[in-house]
Amino acid sequence: MRKNLPYGRQWIDESDIECVGDVLKTDWITQGPKISEFEQMVAEYCGAKYAVAVSSGTAALHIAVLSAGFSPGDEVITTPNTFVSTANSIVYSGATPIFADIKSDTYNINPEEIKKRVNERTGGLIPVDFSGQPCDIVEIKNIAEKYNLVIIEDGAQSLGAEYKDENGEWERVGSCKYSDMTIFSFHPVKHITTGEGGMVLTNDNELYQKLIMLRTHGVTKDKNLLKKDDGPWYFEMQMLGFNYRITDFQCALGINQFKKLDKFIKRRREVVEIYNDSFKEIKEIIIPYEKPDAKSSYHLYVIQFREERLKARKREIFERLRSEGLGVNVHHIPVHIHPFYQEKYGYKEGDLPVAEEYYRGAISLPLYPKMNDEDVKYVTKVINDLIYKCKKSS
Ligand SMILES: *Cc1c(COP(=O)(O)O)cnc(C)c1O
Repeated sequence: MRKNLPYGRQWIDESDIECVGDVLKTDWITQGPKISEFEQMVAEYCGAKYAVAVSSGTAALHIAVLSAGFSPGDEVITTPNTFVSTANSIVYSGATPIFADIKSDTYNINPEEIKKRVNERTGGLIPVDFSGQPCDIVEIKNIAEKYNLVIIEDGAQSLGAEYKDENGEWERVGSCKYSDMTIFSFHPVKHITTGEGGMVLTNDNELYQKLIMLRTHGVTKDKNLLKKDDGPWYFEMQMLGFNYRITDFQCALGINQFKKLDKFIKRRREVVEIYNDSFKEIKEIIIPYEKPDAKSSYHLYVIQFREERLKARKREIFERLRSEGLGVNVHHIPVHIHPFYQEKYGYKEGDLPVAEEYYRGAISLPLYPKMNDEDVKYVTKVINDLIYKCKKSS
């Protein structure tokens, strides 16, 4: 029996609907009490001092790069294996995005490749926790300290993930122990959703003040920050900001979703375990690698099809999987080969061979907490049957 399974999807239940409905009946449609409640909840869970909720993960990246002070003339190093908005945020700031290749085991940015690209123009680093697995943040922090660089960790895919710090203690992504700021996304395919939404976390009060202003047009009413005081109506625009506010009813949804985060991650990891068990003996595919010093929150389950062992190319495999009802996808097209990045910054195919090689084989399978055991079994059966049909006889 054919199923229809997307690669990712939200889990909204009656309690979520009720929480949003409750807020819609109050006077606070936009800037109400649910925003700071949601911010405090996430900050506390992650172990960071401050959190600023905004209208998307991309908005979070934008105000983070501006708070970091990146500007024209600066270079900011990031990974090609990410969604375009990570690199786009660097472009928004006027700085130049520099791509450093990834590691072939975790598909995360390679600290050795970062080192090769650091120079006197480098202003910062934006590593990404690809698929939910934390990047090598301790090593990256060492580089940043040596060269005085700002780190913005793009944790859009890694809410709830953990890694071992330099003392071997588990640390949660978002604690900002090794980053100046960490961002999250609450898009429906991510771990929890607010429809659209995002957040920046930091332990730095100065950055926090800037983030708050940038979220709302660059204005402030804070008596401690005003240059003068004309009266009770008075506010000042001190920098060029945006309207990146999130609404109160979205944050009500975020709060209720957040309560289910650990359950969601637990289910994601269960599904991953079934996949791994089912695929680990198949020589034609490579299953995801989880580092011993990381606990991935598994936003994605990516397998690599080894074309040299198969009669079919990735395109054909992909199309067959889609025709069997698997909403497979590809994460990510290396950012540097998009026409914009080639034309504006002179990147070309071949510049980042590990990311490009990864892209040639990578396909993301359905993975979301609402999948039941039957759904998971269906996926493993489709994959096993397909490999059987397509493998080269040896
Ligand atoms: C989803 C995602 C973003 C963008 O988040 P939005 O909320 O969709 O704006 C940025 N970076 C990465 C790595 C992502 O996966």
